[in-house]
Amino acid sequence: MTAFAIISDLHSNLEAVEAVLQRIDALGVRDIVCLGDVIGYGADPLPVTLLVMQRCKWTIQGNHDWGLFHELDDFNPLAREALFYTRAQLKPSFLRPRRKAAWEFLRSLPDRHQDFGYSFFHGSPRDPVMEYVLKSDGFLEPDKMHHLFTLIDRPCFVGHTHWPGVHRQDYRFTQATDEQREFALEGPCIVNVGSVGQPRDGDPRACFAVVNGNRAEIHRVAYDFRRTQAKILAAGLHPALAERLSRGK
Ligand code: ZN
Repeated sequence: MTAFAIISDLHSNLEAVEAVLQRIDALGVRDIVCLGDVIGYGADPLPVTLLVMQRCKWTIQGNHDWGLFHELDDFNPLAREALFYTRAQLKPSFLRPRRKAAWEFLRSLPDRHQDFGYSFFHGSPRDPVMEYVLKSDGFLEPDKMHHLFTLIDRPCFVGHTHWPGVHRQDYRFTQATDEQREFALEGPCIVNVGSVGQPRDGDPRACFAVVNGNRAEIHRVAYDFRRTQAKILAAGLHPALAERLSRGK
């Protein structure tokens, strides 16, 4: 089986996406798949979407990608504000064919995918776009975990929480860290690949996964988040969206 890379939750962060693609190239991994939230929060929705279109084998829909084309009542104020900004940046027009291509691409994303013998969702196997599988669900929501594990019979991959690690059949969650970054893909398990563009596990480095045979490895890449922060502020987006990138929260 050939190796492939999984990226998720890019959130219009061009510097993080470029750093991750460079690392994937350096690792010699050709196939890249994307679990959604290409846009939202960040300042560069168009270049990030165009890169994803160019580099990814396929992409599925995240809740922010969905939000681009739907009512935003359920989004928090910061996410909503950033989606209004994103709509303004991507709204297609006759004179801007690249925007039109990006807009149509994001509008037509499927909500799940199967490939390489695995299933892929942005959120969860039962509610692929919206539902979070949280690291605390194993002990706080055992019924939910029970239901999720009735839906899968092999490893599957998700993003959405921006928190990398693996949920096993005993409902335990093992967080990915520098010491524990390789995981066996055995039996039903839910692997969270973390976030490229807005990590929330306290580590500001961009996060992605590489699957090779029956192993998944979580990779972290430092990138110039100060540049990303400056762009977010210059775009008039909320300062909190810039500030959190330096803390990885
Ligand atoms: Zn996200």
